[in-house]
Amino acid sequence: MLDRTIERHAVIILGGGPGGLGIAALLAGWRPRLVPGFPSHGFPPPIAKLLHAHSPDLLSADFRPLVEAGMNPGDLFRALHHPGNSYGKGASGMAFRKTQPVDFVLVTNEEVGGLWNNVPRNQLTLSPGRWMEMAPHPVASFARDSGRAIVPEDLIRKNDLVPYYHSIPGKLGFADRVRSGVHISAISPGEKGRGFLLLGKRSGDGPELRFASDFLVFAPGPRSLLRRLNVPGESLPFVTHHYDDWSDFPGHRVAVIGGGRSADWAATELHDAGKLVTYVMRQEPELQERLINESLHLPYYARLRSIIDTGSAGLRRVFRAHVQEFTAGGGIKIDVLGQAEALGVDHAIVEIGGEPDYGLLKRFAPLSLQPKRDNYRFQLNQMRVHPETGESVDIANLFPAGYLVEGTGLSVIGFHGAAYPAAAAILRRSAAP
Ligand SMILES: Cc1cc2nc3c(=O)[nH]c(=O)nc-3n(C[C@H](O)[C@H](O)[C@H](O)COP(=O)(O)OP(=O)(O)OC[C@H]3O[C@@H](n4cnc5c(N)ncnc54)[C@H](O)[C@@H]3O)c2cc1C
Repeated sequence: MLDRTIERHAVIILGGGPGGLGIAALLAGWRPRLVPGFPSHGFPPPIAKLLHAHSPDLLSADFRPLVEAGMNPGDLFRALHHPGNSYGKGASGMAFRKTQPVDFVLVTNEEVGGLWNNVPRNQLTLSPGRWMEMAPHPVASFARDSGRAIVPEDLIRKNDLVPYYHSIPGKLGFADRVRSGVHISAISPGEKGRGFLLLGKRSGDGPELRFASDFLVFAPGPRSLLRRLNVPGESLPFVTHHYDDWSDFPGHRVAVIGGGRSADWAATELHDAGKLVTYVMRQEPELQERLINESLHLPYYARLRSIIDTGSAGLRRVFRAHVQEFTAGGGIKIDVLGQAEALGVDHAIVEIGGEPDYGLLKRFAPLSLQPKRDNYRFQLNQMRVHPETGESVDIANLFPAGYLVEGTGLSVIGFHGAAYPAAAAILRRSAAP
């Protein structure tokens, strides 16, 4: 007998960030076609042939010939979505029409929009707004609908980007398929070893929720497990693992512990709010210098450069430093190349990032993971996939999405294209008798 306490669907999408939203839009029935007049002959022959044959429904294509020719299907969709100046700035090579949706739900523990719900209040992105959009609902359309003064070619602020992501399910007609505020704690193989069974709870103390599906889109993002320093005193009240805004930190002396872009943002903003900032990093100075110097097109990195170059007394950077302990009353013991140093602060902000929670898949075959680096450091392990479909090489019918797909770049423009081959494979298989 069917267990009615389980919510069953053909597809569960786990994670409502840009990774999960990109596939949700396609499973909701939005099918890309080639815009008439798009100069597809400019592509290499295998792509031009595929575009010619499948221009009315690009998801009907079999992407194996591209892969055999050494091309990644995700890159094709990225090039169609963002063809660049040769085809007119801002113009996408794809248009979308609505068809029947697949039976799916998207389960996520916060609102849709993923980690952007929790980045600092005034955070500017690293990329233009247009690069962070889901192609079926461009940022330019959102700006028109909402009357917001957003220039899609400019960096976009959090307080425009989050409402944009929040608008997507309603605009694309799948709001009733979103289960937000549900945290999934375990995933196991479904009945008779087929499909997936997910266990979760609404935030707070609600009853256990169960979801079952034939296909799983796995998009919990790069920070589903927040890292900790794991040193004594890390839970003392002056230590916080989240930075939103400088005004949350009364007092003058603040230590920022980290070294990535989130920590750079916090250190710069706190400095400019008049705080005395000690910026404690494990890394070598050369690494941070390179990151700053290669990011000077971004206004907040230009600002950090000038704070450093003018020798501001409000910012002290301590490199090659390891935190040993936090002590009551604002003490931090650090080790710098074997030398002990004691700091006294009003607040310590630990911004050391996170990693994907692959432990959720421990009941399946061991995962083949591939380390992904950006230009500066190791970032995370990505899941290996069959490139023509985006399906995991280890778990049948599981499709990683967002940051977690092997070979995709660590940005929305870098991974949004991978949603298309994955959605095409799910559509094809779920329609098969
Ligand atoms: C500070 C910072 C700046 C960045 N700047 C840019 C930028 O300018 N441009 C750019 O393109 N990219 C940027 N990125 C990259 C960023 O990671 C992506 O923009 C994007 O948000 C990643 O999308 P995602 O869907 O893979 O993951 P996420 O956005 O993290 O979404 C995953 C969602 O799944 C939820 N989830 C996780 N585990 C569970 C669970 N067990 N149960 C239920 N829900 C779960 C998470 O809480 C989250 O809401 C930046 C990242 C950071 C941290």
